[in-house]
Amino acid sequence: MIIDLHAHTFFSDGALIPSEMVRRAGAANYGAVAITDHGDSSNLDHLVPSIVRVAEDLNKTQLVKVIPGVELTHVPPPLIASLVKKARDLGAKLVVIHGETIVEPVAPGTNRAGLDAGADIIAHPGLLSMEEARLAAQKGIYLEITARKGHCLTNGHVARVALETGASLVLNSDGHAPGDFLSEALAPRIVEGAGLLPDAYARLQSNARLLLDRLGYPLS
Ligand SMILES: [Zn+2]
Ligand SMILES: [Zn+2]
Repeated sequence: MIIDLHAHTFFSDGALIPSEMVRRAGAANYGAVAITDHGDSSNLDHLVPSIVRVAEDLNKTQLVKVIPGVELTHVPPPLIASLVKKARDLGAKLVVIHGETIVEPVAPGTNRAGLDAGADIIAHPGLLSMEEARLAAQKGIYLEITARKGHCLTNGHVARVALETGASLVLNSDGHAPGDFLSEALAPRIVEGAGLLPDAYARLQSNARLLLDRLGYPLS
């Protein structure tokens, strides 16, 4: 069963309305999916309550667990802590930071600010430092192995520093369109392609389950 804690809808730049995204996730054998649209101070006020509302509705009627979240994206590092808090106050159960991918000019210090602020996942953290990975391990913040084109170029680095520091990894799609869903066939191969041993996918899945437990959405 797939757990995918980073996906987009047309509340930001995804192709699908949340109900269709979640329906398709169910059809793709997902157990849980987080809606984590791009957010900053311009849109958190309406974005997060909308995601919370649809997640509540869908969780009443569908088997796939829907976790209401947000991906704070290109927020200047000095503002990240206050927006993490604001997102949580508005009801976001999962706060993802759009990390320092090498294919976008994400402000240096974004990974660190997200870790300091106690976000849940640093998505595509790029060439994060050992010190940052150590901090992630200490604080129980997850680092992302991503299926997303471009962002995935540093999966090997992320896997290595996580292994060396004990930081926990999760695999996410960062999906924006129907073709981006993870599959049981592809997911373990992405993990192995990041340089991890073939048994690592099971560990990443159990990391994701632990995070779901912490967020209050345990998979039965
Ligand atoms: Zn996007
Ligand atoms: Zn994303």
